Amino acid sequence: MSDEQQTKIPQATAKRLPLYYRFLKNLYLSGKQRVSSAELSEAVKVDSATIRRDFSYFGALGKKGYGYNIQYLLTFFRRTLDQDELTKVMLIGVGNLGTAFLNYNFLKNNSTKIEMAFDIETSLVGSDIGGVPIFHLDELEERVGPEVSVAILTVPASVAQPITDRLVAKGIKGILNFTPARLNVPDHVRIHHIDLSIELQSLIYFLKTYPLD
Ligand code: ATP
Repeated sequence: MSDEQQTKIPQATAKRLPLYYRFLKNLYLSGKQRVSSAELSEAVKVDSATIRRDFSYFGALGKKGYGYNIQYLLTFFRRTLDQDELTKVMLIGVGNLGTAFLNYNFLKNNSTKIEMAFDIETSLVGSDIGGVPIFHLDELEERVGPEVSVAILTVPASVAQPITDRLVAKGIKGILNFTPARLNVPDHVRIHHIDLSIELQSLIYFLKTYPLD
């Protein structure tokens, strides 16, 4: 995403882009050419006023009784989300979760790819999973080039911070943290924290507290 585009689109809108993109791509593949904000709203669970405001930032003006041109939106999203440019990702910690990611490797999405993985377990080092080579963590600094800008962390929480420090020193820009550890990083590094057990507990809590039926 260019700086110019980033300053023009508010962060909250930018966060919804992948959601819109995924849904519109499926509509497009099923042969649809246009979509109304009401239809989109129902599908992505964002209210239609917000969708209209978001889309006005993209220069897409819906026409009454016509809706939005899907192809126009997709072209815009692809450019904005850098879908044409491959983001190279590394994964650290090839345990149960890490192995699942290596096998999955975001193949439906051709803009991201896990290029390499690291672990300290000697039985894993030198092998590959899902075509992704696994190296020893000692080789992190020599193996990782500047083209790898994102890391997925699936190591035990106790080692997450020292590994993060090494990643930061190596110039990583973003970390998807699957460990429960709260990581300290400088301001220029973005961390997204995903704690699956908390997400699951939170879902169960909401189901109990605010049942939908
Ligand atoms: P999960 O289901 O959370 O992926 P697991 O139970 O399979 O985990 P963990 O003990 O959480 O295993 O470890 C995840 C992986 O991280 C293992 O493959 C382990 O060898 C690896 N690991 C442990 N310490 C380090 C470290 N310091 N650097 C890199 N990898 C590590």
